[in-house]
Amino acid sequence: RLVRLRSRLARSGALGQALLSVLGRDHLDEAAWEELEETLLQADLGIDPTTALLAELRTRIRVDGTKDPVAIREVLRELLLAQVDPSMDRTIASAPVLGADGEPHPATILMVGVNGTGKTTTVGKLARLLVAEDKDVVLGAADTFRAAAADQLATWGARVGVDVVRSEKDGADPASVAHDAVEAGFRSGADVVIIDTAGRLQNKAGLMDELGKIVRVASRPAPIAESLLVLDATTGQNGLRQARVFAEVAHLTGIVLTKLDGSAKGGIVVAVQRELGIPVKLVGLGEGPDDLAPFDPESFVDALLG
Ligand code: GDP
Repeated sequence: RLVRLRSRLARSGALGQALLSVLGRDHLDEAAWEELEETLLQADLGIDPTTALLAELRTRIRVDGTKDPVAIREVLRELLLAQVDPSMDRTIASAPVLGADGEPHPATILMVGVNGTGKTTTVGKLARLLVAEDKDVVLGAADTFRAAAADQLATWGARVGVDVVRSEKDGADPASVAHDAVEAGFRSGADVVIIDTAGRLQNKAGLMDELGKIVRVASRPAPIAESLLVLDATTGQNGLRQARVFAEVAHLTGIVLTKLDGSAKGGIVVAVQRELGIPVKLVGLGEGPDDLAPFDPESFVDALLG
């Protein structure tokens, strides 16, 4: 998977070629620095991280007195890696959680994000990853607004071999489906319950209301283990605006960045982590069941640099 991420990012021309052409010059004049800035912005790194990174790079080059492009590239790699922050905890919580009743409960993972970002698909792919780790997983179809969402999740459940809790009728109360899923997971002794939710950003008050209720109901038996925000990497810096809305309602513990295959520029990882102060934990690399990978900072920066 990481090899695939690397080749995809390299093909999208994330940073590699452009950087090589700038750093390969004898002398980094102002035009070269501007080009470097443009390249980092194009890769979706965001304005503040780019500014900070270039200031640091200038200082380091001055202090070290280096002109060697290979050495400069190495410093850049080091600075980028620091921005991605390898020290953040990127594990997905899947251990039992102690409930209010003193019993161990399944780890509940809440999946939130705007419609179309890839939530339902990610729930299916994450279930697959967890099943591969021998976890018993139950899915909850709490996106009751989009008629096809529960069917889509049921298809994933059948494909991955896990139970899906859903409502019989369209437009049912999403919080009651979340309740039923958490309950079913506890009764069957599951390890993990993953809850899919709706994300209509057009109606912010309605969304906050609905999500708030799901959070309250799902955390009643035992605290929610993970609230993962699903962001579409191809929406670039726009995703950040969405992220703020969701961070207001749910206590987010991590980000899933989808659609990093295709035309997305990976620099958005740095921007969203900085904005939300939480790590990117998983990346989506396609529409298939195996196209979800844990996020690994080292490989990611290498892929970005091409
Ligand atoms: P939801 O509305 O947030 O639940 O989004 P869906 O899960 O229905 O996904 C929307 C579309 O994005 C579907 O066509 C998915 O197959 C596609 N999709 C989801 N994740 C990825 C990904 O990582 N890469 C690509 N290329 N497509 C994805």
